[in-house]
Amino acid sequence: MRNIERIYVNGQFVKPYGNEVQDLINPSTKEVIGRVTLGNAEDARRAIAAAKEAFKTFSRTTVEERSQMLHRLHDAIMAYSDALMEANINEYGAPKLAAIGRVHLAAANFLDTKQALEEFEFVKYIGKAKVVSEPIGIIGIITPWNASYSQITAKLASAIAAGCPVVIKPSELSAIQTQMITECFHKANIPAGVINVVNGLGQTVGAEMTRNPDIAMISFTGSTLVGKEIRRGAVDTMKRVTLELGGKSPNIILDDADFSTAIPTAIKQCFTNNGQACVAGTRLLVPKHRLEEVKRLAKETVETMKVGNPWDEDTILGPIVTEKQYNQVQRFIKSGIEEGAELVIGGEGHPDGLQRGYFVKPTVFAHVTEDMTIAKEEIFGPVLSILTYTTEDEAIEMANNTDYGLGAYLSSSNIEKANELASRIAAGVVLINGASFEMKAPFGGFKHSGIGREYGVHGLEECLETKTITGYDSVLK
Ligand code: NAD
Repeated sequence: MRNIERIYVNGQFVKPYGNEVQDLINPSTKEVIGRVTLGNAEDARRAIAAAKEAFKTFSRTTVEERSQMLHRLHDAIMAYSDALMEANINEYGAPKLAAIGRVHLAAANFLDTKQALEEFEFVKYIGKAKVVSEPIGIIGIITPWNASYSQITAKLASAIAAGCPVVIKPSELSAIQTQMITECFHKANIPAGVINVVNGLGQTVGAEMTRNPDIAMISFTGSTLVGKEIRRGAVDTMKRVTLELGGKSPNIILDDADFSTAIPTAIKQCFTNNGQACVAGTRLLVPKHRLEEVKRLAKETVETMKVGNPWDEDTILGPIVTEKQYNQVQRFIKSGIEEGAELVIGGEGHPDGLQRGYFVKPTVFAHVTEDMTIAKEEIFGPVLSILTYTTEDEAIEMANNTDYGLGAYLSSSNIEKANELASRIAAGVVLINGASFEMKAPFGGFKHSGIGREYGVHGLEECLETKTITGYDSVLK
């Protein structure tokens, strides 16, 4: 049992003013494994005050100093990788191998950003002007539950590189993971007040951060609905907002692709993180005349994927994070059946023998049409919709026929054609032939999937303001 009774303000773990207590549940067993005391708006304000004080000196640190801080943050995460992994498995239900990957990714964010920082030109000369990049100010970081470590560290690394103190409001569902990673931040010996972490609800702590005039920027990852609320809330104080939001990513398999690898890969791209991924490739677009083959390959692939105890090394799919999300996924599966899609595998209810936790059956639907709920809405569970097209132009049109535009996947044996089609897809990231994400490259969405980019140099630039200085005769070097 973990009792998380403190928040992290000005370099110290302190009791919050807020006193609401929330249970933390292991989604594999439904057991209560901890309790978190939630901070309130006043806690947010004292964290912001600490960050404001820290900004005075932190904003003037050298690249070398900040680079060393990023290195220390990386090392602190790696030193506690086992404990972080354990918290990810118990609180979130991530399968062990995925959990290890998550922790390494979180640590790597600091080194990737360190490299971007060291290569960045903070001073440029344009004509007669000196153009300087300066830290924007205090950054409010608000994150969801589905990849706590990597989301927090990606945003934090960019802010530290830029010279901006932060107030982090993680998901209230990730309090144990938050506590673990905050202890790592504490051990990294970062100046007091630069990193502050306040557990709490969106409507209290998150809303205060969004409206507070001392915060210069909100870096948010979460649902499109809340992202829009944050953008509206940030208007009066003229904050910059970066928003990493939801998705309904298409996966186009061209007729000339190798289906025996493309279809199993497409299943993984949809079921990654148990489908609880903003970039899940949830709409599989295949040539109409190949549908039967696709259904067979999809079914065979899903049959080999073990759902169950996340501690087992051969488990691919753990539970869904909460009862609420579990029920939501069930409702989507039900809607697919009721609206006339064909169930290829999976369906409603728990997999056999897994009644105890929030486990769902990995599910594939065929004969899905664009007007069906499962083709339009973000499900956030292991549910794949197969749609068919007759021409490549139609495939592109279907891929783009959504308000979202986060990820897109494409398989073809003709790489030139794949590249040409990639240029016609409205998405922030396009992965061809099963390629994985390049974590130094920008990540973010088109349309309702977001504003701004994260990671590497693009993430750093989001946290900077630009100042132009000109003199009558020459610019001071
Ligand atoms: P959510 O939007 O419900 O919550 C995200 C965070 O916002 C939480 O910390 C929450 O407490 C806070 N929040 C809620 N209301 C708020 C308010 N009014 N003001 C300020 N903060 C508020 O999202 P979730 O359910 O935790 O996560 C799932 C969503 O996140 C999915 O839609 C998913 O697609 C998205 N997501 C996007 C990315 C990406 O990079 N694009 C990555 C992961 C998840």
